[in-house]
Amino acid sequence: MNATKEMIYEDETGCIRIDEFDQFSVQIKDGEYTSGYMPVDVRKMTCCICGEGWELKPKAIMNQYECRSARSMVHKTCYERWLTFEQRMLFIKAVQLSKFRMLRDGVKPIKNQYGGAWNTDWFEFRFDQLDHITLTIGRRKRVYEILMKSTQPLDSKRFKRKFETENVTKRFEPDLVLLHAWDDQKLMEYVNILSLQFDDLEEKTSGFVAGSTKTVRLG
Ligand SMILES: [Zn+2]
Repeated sequence: MNATKEMIYEDETGCIRIDEFDQFSVQIKDGEYTSGYMPVDVRKMTCCICGEGWELKPKAIMNQYECRSARSMVHKTCYERWLTFEQRMLFIKAVQLSKFRMLRDGVKPIKNQYGGAWNTDWFEFRFDQLDHITLTIGRRKRVYEILMKSTQPLDSKRFKRKFETENVTKRFEPDLVLLHAWDDQKLMEYVNILSLQFDDLEEKTSGFVAGSTKTVRLG
């Protein structure tokens, strides 16, 4: 451990200091172990998501993430929440642009089923006219996972045929269809293809219909 030039803060959880090489460093004590870090000096910065700064405590300082695309330091926890929000909107959009008709309270956040870099929620969807179907969508490290479960037997051969040309992780069983989608576009496409395999679904009666030029009169 480098010598301390200036002690900024110290308590039983660790310390924040400037070392002999003028480096901003944080130490966190966990029982008898001490871990050292050299995070960004965020003392005068503001997280562009919540608009707050960083509390001058070792663990609070470590709650930081450099969001390169936003050219900004943010709280790691804020970033995770924002990612969850963004994914939630994306998944809802995918469902809304498909033939599935989401129930009014048909989206439920569930625990992340993968545990990648970010612990974002996964989401479970329930649909009108399809009581037997649960669609779960979530983010893994590099792909989206789409898992459709059914309590009534599915025509797995039909689903398999529809995704024949897709070179991705996929599984087709009488009680489930599992697909990995490489990007947002593929996610939308796959959810739509899944929805099109339910022949008896009534057409959506209002709102925007994907791929349609029909205008819907309001009021
Ligand atoms: Zn924040």
